[in-house]
Amino acid sequence: MNIFYILFFLFLEKIPQELQEVWSEIDSIYIDLDLHKDMVEEKKTSIQESEEKVNFIESDIETLTNRKTKFFALRSQLEEEIEQQYSRLSSVLNDSLKDKQIIPSWFMVFGYDKHLDAYQQKVKGLTGSISSMESSLSKVSIDINAIEDLLNSSLSKKDKLYETLAKKEFELSESIDALEEFNSTYEQEIIDLRNERNRLELEIEAETILTYRGARWELPLYKPCEGRLSSPFDPNRLHPVLGYVRPHNGQDIAAPKGTPIYAAETGRVIFVGEKSGNWAGLGKFIIIQHAEGWTTRYAHLSKILIDNEKAVKRGDLIGLVGSTGLSTGPHLHFETRKNDVPYDPYPYLNSNEK
Ligand SMILES: [Zn+2]
Repeated sequence: MNIFYILFFLFLEKIPQELQEVWSEIDSIYIDLDLHKDMVEEKKTSIQESEEKVNFIESDIETLTNRKTKFFALRSQLEEEIEQQYSRLSSVLNDSLKDKQIIPSWFMVFGYDKHLDAYQQKVKGLTGSISSMESSLSKVSIDINAIEDLLNSSLSKKDKLYETLAKKEFELSESIDALEEFNSTYEQEIIDLRNERNRLELEIEAETILTYRGARWELPLYKPCEGRLSSPFDPNRLHPVLGYVRPHNGQDIAAPKGTPIYAAETGRVIFVGEKSGNWAGLGKFIIIQHAEGWTTRYAHLSKILIDNEKAVKRGDLIGLVGSTGLSTGPHLHFETRKNDVPYDPYPYLNSNEK
């Protein structure tokens, strides 16, 4: 390992740590922001609940007011009826007095007592109905009082709720103000942190490029894997799994699972892992960037033994043969590309010199 690599790794240790700190600062600000937003949502919900309560009580008040009106009507009806009965009673009494005055003496002898009995009966009946009406009138009055009590308590509840509502709305507007203030305070901080992050990333990029001045492209390439050439580079190949013509952008080297795979030339790893979509067929694969716009790809690996962004030297062990992705058996699919255009690797291969 030369001094370049050592410096590079030291640098890689330091910068990501700073980046990590920047990221966690941004994260904590977002968490704070979410908390504030949650608070505002909570206040809004509680205001909504209070408004529902107010509506409920208002409809209660309406029902009570209707009942009260009905009872008032009932009361005045009863009062009218009582008055009528009283006037009937007084006319009955008057009649009896008149009769008394004009009744002839012979009538007094023969039937007056009977006549008087009938009057007394009538008076008794009327008095009874008056007193029963008066008792229902007092019942109605009691009901009206009860309703008025209920109505008053509902009204005062409503007033209290309106007070609470106003308080909550005030609190909400304060929270929103605080949130806005928070946003404007941290907006600049987030922008600064993002700029800082970009600057650090550019620094890494610049350093990486510098470090990889060591990248090479010397032919013939180092043989990436020992094995049998099972399928050559072919722009018009009938795909063995898919069953239709699809260009074969590399060459296949059949070898048992676990056979070591080596970097064909010195450079920097720019991808390790799997990708979806058109790339899914490659299974686990590696891309290494070399000099002059050349890259090499190693696909269908059972295991990747190198990390992304790392420097690799010609002949370094980078992975093991496998059959991941679209593959009929263990083999290495090896590509050479210049500015992303695939070229037949065959003419460049088969050197065992490091
Ligand atoms: Zn292939």
